[in-house]
Amino acid sequence: MTKAKGKLFIKTFGCQMNVYDSERMGEALAEAGYVTTDTPENADLVILNTCHIREKAAEKVYSELGRLKQIKTARERQGHGTTIAVAGCVAQAEGREILSRAPVVDLVVGPQSYHRLGDLISRAGQKRGGIIDIDFPEDDKFKHLPARPKVARSPSAFLTVQEGCDKFCTFCVVPYTRGVEYSRPVREIVEEAGRLAQAGVREITLLGQNVNAYHGNSGRSEPASLAQLLRALAEIPELERLRYTTSHPRDMSDDLVALHGNLEKLMPYLHLPFQAGSDRILAAMNRKHTRDDYLELVRRIRAARADIALSTDIIVGFPGETDEEFIRTLEVVKSVQFSQAYSFKFSPRPGTPAAAMDDQVLEEVKSSRLQELQAVLNEQQAAFNASCVGWNLDDVSYKAFRAICVHCLKVR
Ligand code: SAM
Ligand code: SF4
Repeated sequence: MTKAKGKLFIKTFGCQMNVYDSERMGEALAEAGYVTTDTPENADLVILNTCHIREKAAEKVYSELGRLKQIKTARERQGHGTTIAVAGCVAQAEGREILSRAPVVDLVVGPQSYHRLGDLISRAGQKRGGIIDIDFPEDDKFKHLPARPKVARSPSAFLTVQEGCDKFCTFCVVPYTRGVEYSRPVREIVEEAGRLAQAGVREITLLGQNVNAYHGNSGRSEPASLAQLLRALAEIPELERLRYTTSHPRDMSDDLVALHGNLEKLMPYLHLPFQAGSDRILAAMNRKHTRDDYLELVRRIRAARADIALSTDIIVGFPGETDEEFIRTLEVVKSVQFSQAYSFKFSPRPGTPAAAMDDQVLEEVKSSRLQELQAVLNEQQAAFNASCVGWNLDDVSYKAFRAICVHCLKVR
């Protein structure tokens, strides 16, 4: 039996990919002898798994570190040590700066080094001043993480199949924090899904920054597409439902669109960000699709699966966005009718091309556009919710939303 190392508390910020990473870190550390606790006050090891996508998300980490400093000092007075680690995208993007801004931190670890956590934590305990590991190692971290547990925590699970991004949208930090696009091999994913299914999982959401750009080793000369991967996973008898997120409109292949009409286990829900309704802004964002491309894609998806629920991401106040261009965004929203959406004010991220653009939009203009947009989105969401009232529990469409809420992806 592994000797107990102490209590572990992990706080997760940001997207579902971070939720998955936190789970895998927790599992790796459980194998190393840590027991999870739900408060930092009695934790020997605290990990903040962070998000750098918008300024607000990154700043939350520093205010959390301020709180942890007080907890660490109080624990020291009682004779207990606390190791504090910052993981995730803020760790990757800010590296050494975290140690200077928050000396309470003992370890800064990027998303590609989680399989080395046990060793890094022991080293951090021995070295004053903190240590950093934000390499992008050649090696596949997933190969070195322990197998998934034998008993599932929930009937729904996330499974990361693809990481990183080569698209370089001008507003986005992901290509810098998560590195180049990488797809896990089909065999590795099917094995992990099979193990989750054996443990009691019935619904899996495949994750990737650009999940539909998936092109993993299939064991044959050609890599497998996401559609092929989904078909392979649908063969696992215990799995009843499959989902995937997040998709880029450019990577919605005909095969994947068609799958929504013919793979019964694929749930009728798709998150498909469009970001902006003006072609000039889309080009400045380097999205590589136009408003008409997006609307045509939605038409094809609905032709394949009429009852599909669509959600999206939208940015308002991208540099240079005029009132007329913002109206193009509202037009797309009104034309598509989303079941749910995430909408954001443009947040300039250090090192991205859009942060250095001259014509930044005033904060109050961004706020008023966001308010106007959210009023329309809220109406559409309310209409969708109302349309679900009275659904029969056995109805296929209802089943799509029963295990994971379409709105927050939390288990209901
Ligand atoms: N890969 C997905 C795609 O291409 O649509 C998006 C993934 S990104 C992690 C999640 C969302 O955060 C984006 O769709 C975008 O709406 C938002 N986002 C990213 N960078 C942003 C920024 N600098 N300011 C505001 N919102 C941003
Ligand atoms: Fe970021 Fe998505 Fe664009 Fe990649 S495709 S750069 S993850 S917004």
